[in-house]
Amino acid sequence: MAGLTTFGDEARIALDTLAGRAAGLVSPSLRLGVTGLSRAGKTVFITSLVHNLVHGGRLPLFDAHKSGRIAKAYLEHQPDDAVPRFQYEDHVVALVDSRIWPDSTRAISELRLTIDFESASGWGRLFSRGRLSLDIVDYPGEWLLDLPLLAKSFAEFSRDAMDLARLPVRDDLSREWRALAEATNSDAPADEMTARRLAESFAAYLKACKADGRALSTLPPGRFLMPGDLDGSPALTFSPLPNLAEGRAKAGSLHAMMERRYEAYKTHVVKPFFREHIARLDRQIVLVDAMQALNAGPEAVADLERALTEILACFRAGRGNILTDLFTRKIDRILIAATKADHIHHESHDRLQAIVRRLADRAAEQASFSGADVDVLAMAAVRSTREGTVKQGRETLPVIIGTPLKGETIGSETFDGETETAIFPGDLPDDLDSILKQGERGTSPEDAPIRFVRFRPPKLEKTAEGVTLSLPHIRLDRALQYLIGDHLA
Ligand code: GDP
Repeated sequence: MAGLTTFGDEARIALDTLAGRAAGLVSPSLRLGVTGLSRAGKTVFITSLVHNLVHGGRLPLFDAHKSGRIAKAYLEHQPDDAVPRFQYEDHVVALVDSRIWPDSTRAISELRLTIDFESASGWGRLFSRGRLSLDIVDYPGEWLLDLPLLAKSFAEFSRDAMDLARLPVRDDLSREWRALAEATNSDAPADEMTARRLAESFAAYLKACKADGRALSTLPPGRFLMPGDLDGSPALTFSPLPNLAEGRAKAGSLHAMMERRYEAYKTHVVKPFFREHIARLDRQIVLVDAMQALNAGPEAVADLERALTEILACFRAGRGNILTDLFTRKIDRILIAATKADHIHHESHDRLQAIVRRLADRAAEQASFSGADVDVLAMAAVRSTREGTVKQGRETLPVIIGTPLKGETIGSETFDGETETAIFPGDLPDDLDSILKQGERGTSPEDAPIRFVRFRPPKLEKTAEGVTLSLPHIRLDRALQYLIGDHLA
């Protein structure tokens, strides 16, 4: 098994972490990591959070806001010059003015929001007005799922990737790549074109797994899906190889080349990311699109559980690996939030939350998770629907009303992106176990319990005086209370 990390790395991470803490003493700051697999809702979450704080949105469950202690919230220059800034202003224009969803997260970005507040205790107020700089760090969850690679040799990585690719739900998607890989002689002299063909075919298979109908989650290496600025670089031009001979790769062979690139990926991509970004976080929110997984069927739900297990393993405290040892000492709260709850009626919100709680519990158990406090929440960072009822015969059905995106369909109806429609989304199943059992019996995605259409962002309401209100949401305030409330006490 390959060495996990060298002593040099270990010492450097420890120093970085200390320096970060010392810097924190100068101006109180809290680093909030926002992650989740692609399209989970990170961009929308950050945009709505900032919009609601800056514009004084409706946040009754967020104590500091409810009691009127927040004097002002405003954007400031971020502390890290080398990290791209989260494009908040562009995203607000898209959401509020154009009513289109903003461009999703493709790489890491950062935004500093500073909050001036009054302490809740007279004692606190005596000393000074409080100020908290919230550094929001947005990064793809796919990158987090690379952590286990650090403990895997190229041979182990190849074997695991092949095993995953042969699972029934992936078999057809991975067939082309597997055929190509099987037909390749790993001991033949290294050749760039062969490497590229294999890497492209492997990446195409991973991307196909992500497509709506499948909605699969566990797909390392993360940069194959979210290359950031590494697109086309040699560190990304590799692929697992089947049937590798035991022992060392033959010098100059394709096997040796792929192995070297895989190791380069770990050294130059994965490790620096954990050292420079993850190790410095204080709090973490993990967004999960449970709705889409439920919609795609039991296998997607099982896959989401696997991804959640690996994500939680990254934040596990205690013995295990040096990277996690160092940073989990810092992260003390993790919120697992099921987004897009506005797709279902509030009567189902508790069920959604219960399903995700159970997923998180099972994941935490499998990851032997301990250390940080974990909470679970069903929310919608931006609420794009209203609720209503529709009479059907003698029955009254709870419906949600919104404007489905152009091109969305239900049955034979295709929506034009302008017309409001009432939709009966169906009932969420009672519990996770019955969903997963269905999977074992081989139920198809057509049997999915909920009807899922994407809606346009809402039209913002105006007050009588003509002031536009902040983005509406479901329980964003509860998320805020859990993630930063204690720092504003
Ligand atoms: P990211 O890849 O994690 O940054 O995902 P985004 O934030 O870009 O969200 C992906 C898509 O999910 C958006 O384009 C929206 O269609 C949808 N979405 C995200 N959050 C919400 C939400 O709170 N409510 C609704 N209705 N849709 C959402």
